[in-house]
Amino acid sequence: VVSTRTNRNRSNERIKQNEPPSENSSTNSTKTISKSQGSHIGSPTTSFTSTNSWKSRASGSGSLENINENNNISFRKIATSFPQVENNIHVVIRVRPLNSKEIRCGDTSTVDFPGNGQILVHGMPNGNSNQKEKTFSYDAVFEPASSQEDVFEFCGIKELIEMAVEGFRCTAFCYGQTGSGKTHTLTGPPGLFLQRPTAYHKDHGLILRSFVYLFQLLDKSSEIHYTLRASFLEIYNEKIIDLLNLGSSRKPLPIRWSKKARGFFVENLFTVVCEELDDLIAVLEEGMRNRSVGKHNMNEYSSRSHTILTINITSEIAAEGGVFISRTGKLNFVDLAGSEVTKKTQSGGKTLEEANNINKSLMVLGYCISSLSDPKRIGTHIPYRDSNLTKLLADSLAGNGVTLMIACISPAKSNQSESVNTLRYASRAKKIKTKPAVLM
Ligand code: ADP
Ligand code: MG
Repeated sequence: VVSTRTNRNRSNERIKQNEPPSENSSTNSTKTISKSQGSHIGSPTTSFTSTNSWKSRASGSGSLENINENNNISFRKIATSFPQVENNIHVVIRVRPLNSKEIRCGDTSTVDFPGNGQILVHGMPNGNSNQKEKTFSYDAVFEPASSQEDVFEFCGIKELIEMAVEGFRCTAFCYGQTGSGKTHTLTGPPGLFLQRPTAYHKDHGLILRSFVYLFQLLDKSSEIHYTLRASFLEIYNEKIIDLLNLGSSRKPLPIRWSKKARGFFVENLFTVVCEELDDLIAVLEEGMRNRSVGKHNMNEYSSRSHTILTINITSEIAAEGGVFISRTGKLNFVDLAGSEVTKKTQSGGKTLEEANNINKSLMVLGYCISSLSDPKRIGTHIPYRDSNLTKLLADSLAGNGVTLMIACISPAKSNQSESVNTLRYASRAKKIKTKPAVLM
């Protein structure tokens, strides 16, 4: 149940961010925990299937309850009691239903669902006679009949939120061609979140459901004091626009490196302190509203822009001698530009420089994923610094964070080559084996 909105004046809760929250006072834990028995992402139903569980990697000796139990031990001890995540990327596929236009035109589905986190593609493009069908495997596959609730419950986002609360740097991103369901998955149909709900609408997306879950988690842990700070930005043509503070000129903001926090940050980005659920919902609303301001062709625009909604979660806990110790986890929700752009720029043989005005960020994300997933390139340079998107996601991708990739595809024959590209991209991402995630 989602609470109704209160009319509070939030203006004094806004702060401009000149530096990200400083490095947590813990040291990185290098202790490896034993894998627990692990809960399932979900029991297989007809609408989705999954294989291994992300939670099994994430759970272990560290949990919120542990913090409470160990309330008066030193922060260092608390830090080492936290889990490491052994495999820090979780990849799921969501297949949208055929839309009415596709059905009208007699387009048909070319995918099947054998179960166990697999998807089977019939009539593979460029397939030779032996390879007309191909099966791809992921952590979970959501079939067209899956509901928004199924995706929220079983894609791994709940575990990701729990890890962000514990202090990990976490990112959930939707990848796929324009029209494949990325925005539907994250936010639901346009404008839906504007109706202040008293309960979920069936189409409410992952972000709103995550907000509710986040507050449920925080409410449970009364001995820890949490501060949530949210920001919402857009990257279009490598320019960073603050969706919470458009201003009249839409002046792009610079990205800088923070020595203190050992990470990139957007200078002067507005962050909003969110004390209750309604504050987070207001951030989502304002950002989505500003995203469409002055756009003649919203679809064309959104297919070329990335949005990143970030929640920084600072937890403070009283230690011996009345000292407060703190750590900051991070949760990014990323709605990526349409992946078909990448394909066009790559097949055109363009260099990164030439692609600058098309979609550098998406290309560089692809390069980073390819580099991270290739065992031959372990220890080699990963080009995070080559685009603004990857600069901002580096702490989730780079080995000390955790990432959930939701690859969205259309089942239609007419979209098959794009869908197969997305499945291949997702398979590459699944191969990423970075260092185990550690708390920062
Ligand atoms: P993208 O953000 O990837 O460009 P959208 O999320 O805007 O794509 O989806 C394109 C259209 O398809 C929208 O009208 C959306 O409501 C619809 N759609 C996408 N996924 C689903 C789904 N799982 N169930 C029903 N409709 C969907
Ligand atoms: Mg979209």
